[in-house]
Amino acid sequence: MDYFLTEEQTMIRDLARQIAEEKVVPVRAELDEKEEFPHEIMAVLAQSDMFGIFIPEKYGGLGLASFELSIAVEELSRACLGVSTTYAANALGTYPILLFGSDEQKERYLPTIAQGKSLVAFALTEANAGSDAAGVQTTATKDGDYYVLNGTKQWITNGGEADVYTVIAITDRSRGARGASAFIVDKKTPGFTFGKKEKKMGIRASVTRELIFQDCRVPKENLLGREGMGFIVAMKTLDQSRVGVGAQGVGVAQGAFDVAVNFARQRIQFGKPIISFQAIQHMLADMTTRTEAARALVYAVARYIDSGAKDISKISAMAKVFATDVAMSVTTDAVQVMGGSGYMREYAAEKMMRDAKILQIYEGTNQIQRNVIGQALIKEAAKTR
Ligand SMILES: Cc1cc2nc3c(=O)[nH]c(=O)nc-3n(C[C@H](O)[C@H](O)[C@H](O)COP(=O)(O)OP(=O)(O)OC[C@H]3O[C@@H](n4cnc5c(N)ncnc54)[C@H](O)[C@@H]3O)c2cc1C
Repeated sequence: MDYFLTEEQTMIRDLARQIAEEKVVPVRAELDEKEEFPHEIMAVLAQSDMFGIFIPEKYGGLGLASFELSIAVEELSRACLGVSTTYAANALGTYPILLFGSDEQKERYLPTIAQGKSLVAFALTEANAGSDAAGVQTTATKDGDYYVLNGTKQWITNGGEADVYTVIAITDRSRGARGASAFIVDKKTPGFTFGKKEKKMGIRASVTRELIFQDCRVPKENLLGREGMGFIVAMKTLDQSRVGVGAQGVGVAQGAFDVAVNFARQRIQFGKPIISFQAIQHMLADMTTRTEAARALVYAVARYIDSGAKDISKISAMAKVFATDVAMSVTTDAVQVMGGSGYMREYAAEKMMRDAKILQIYEGTNQIQRNVIGQALIKEAAKTR
């Protein structure tokens, strides 16, 4: 389908596709097998200005937004979700600075992020604070010109590899959800170390680690927004970035469809290519229809966000939940279309199916997204009464 991309958007899509095909596809199985961080691919993305897409021109970026970022994420995800998660988590970690940073914080951090010289991570989750983010235990205690951080963050994408971390910690427990604050923490800050690297089912090129803060003194200038705004920072950040998880879903679904259709044209059974069987055609028809519907929703939502719309929680959740459920079903069907071959590591389909599962879990599970949509419906219904 034609989505009437501008010349600039077409260039970004074509460049991301070229990087995906030339640099990611040849190494994705090896990165997955060895659970290796994609340093070289990140360097290529940096050289190609891909890290600057959503950063304002004033700070050395391309001055574009969610839509263009989604296109780049989609193309990388078509090749490897481990690589695209590394790239997309950088944007997730940067949004708190972009949305809530002071001019000084933006000037200090955004130019190197735009150039791909500093990688970023976003740290909200803890052992007892998953879906229930209000359960955060990490504390930040004011001490003169510093906040002293203590606690452990769990399952942080880009943990250990990133240079900059946006971290949510409690500054005043008595204020409940209003007692959290957001901080920018540099990797080299004394008292900040990393725990174990997780062994995962999929997205194995992406690194997931614990962050450990032990009397970690963060200058007070690194507070994002005001004290007490931590959960607002986290929720607005996730609203902004969830459409990108939807774009990951579209990309991996497209990648799995491509692999399956190519296989179905070549695999001969009963003297014919299996694509000539109507049962296979119907599966492929549903796979491509669902993928296109997900793409149309993700693109529409990204464009809506970029229009400056304020209340984006419901539509971001809709894009995430729909496109990632599509990704899970299409990658699973790709394996089925390919029979035993689909189950083998020789083909990309099994990796795509393993990888796709995370999209229904991170940045808020799909159950939580449905809760968000449900809550929005209740509010809307109350207004129309
Ligand atoms: C590979 C990976 C990378 C990640 N990267 C990051 C990162 O970079 N930064 C970060 O901060 N976090 C990250 N996370 C954490 C991720 O966002 C959480 O795992 C996710 O929000 C779910 O939390 P949980 O795993 O603790 O599940 P739980 O909250 O324990 O949920 C378990 C189950 O219960 C369901 N459930 C819970 N509450 C409700 C409810 N109220 N209604 C209905 N169902 C409910 C959930 O949907 C789920 O099915 C990452 C996780 C993984 C696995």
